[in-house]
Amino acid sequence: MTIADALRAATVHLAVASDTPRLDAELLMAHALGLTRNDLLLRQRDLTVPPAFAALLDRRRGGEPVAYITGTRDFWTIALDVTPDVLIPRPDSETLIEAALAHFADRAPATVLDLGTGSGALLLAALDQWPDARGLGVDASPGALAVARGNAVRLGLADRAAFQSGDWAQGVDGQFDLLLINPPYIASTAPLSGDVLSEPGSALFAGAEGLDDYRRIAPDLPRLIAPGGMAAIEIGYDQRASVSALLHDAGLAVRVLRDLAGHDRCLVATLA
Ligand code: GLN
Repeated sequence: MTIADALRAATVHLAVASDTPRLDAELLMAHALGLTRNDLLLRQRDLTVPPAFAALLDRRRGGEPVAYITGTRDFWTIALDVTPDVLIPRPDSETLIEAALAHFADRAPATVLDLGTGSGALLLAALDQWPDARGLGVDASPGALAVARGNAVRLGLADRAAFQSGDWAQGVDGQFDLLLINPPYIASTAPLSGDVLSEPGSALFAGAEGLDDYRRIAPDLPRLIAPGGMAAIEIGYDQRASVSALLHDAGLAVRVLRDLAGHDRCLVATLA
């Protein structure tokens, strides 16, 4: 069977389990061959289907996310190692980096704080974007911190990235030009299905309204944002009003940005 035939068959096979069956098939094939997806697509006529491909397809059909099968996910300009200890970085979250780029324009943030860093995605994307910036990533999960530290080393960013275990901003001192925060925000009663169920619940769920963690984070933000700085805070598509109110109560000014799908996705909080 040619690679092209195998990808066509796999796309049909995965359609029951995935909204992106063709993409998934290509990523799994590339992984089985030890190639990037680009190299797979360029070189496919010279390649044969590796035996490992069938087992990878079965795992995907069983509901395992592609990123946990391949162990990697692209985010912004970097590729991150991911394990089931961390949320899989999503393109939606790149809206936070876009917000920072717009805010700083021709300046650059010198210091970055990522609360709930998970895989390190937001912090490491920011450090890759601004080569003179230094940053701190905080997470309550030891497993996540191990993944984030590994990513910093692999990406050559470890000399500018520190990580610490913590409960949001407790124990974090000083001020930062840029805060990046993607807390859990799904209501614990929300009916979820599909891939997301493989991801750590502690990174997804935040009480009855999905607001518990915003309530705990908001009061600390004014002391953490340096003059001229900002916090980019990810929200669920229907949380603009509720989270803005919490930030206003903390004395901050708030703007909203939409993601590529047009959903409210990022609040930018600044000192009023
Ligand atoms: N955007 C994620 C989802 O909808 C949720 C991430 C989060 O809670 N921070 O699956």
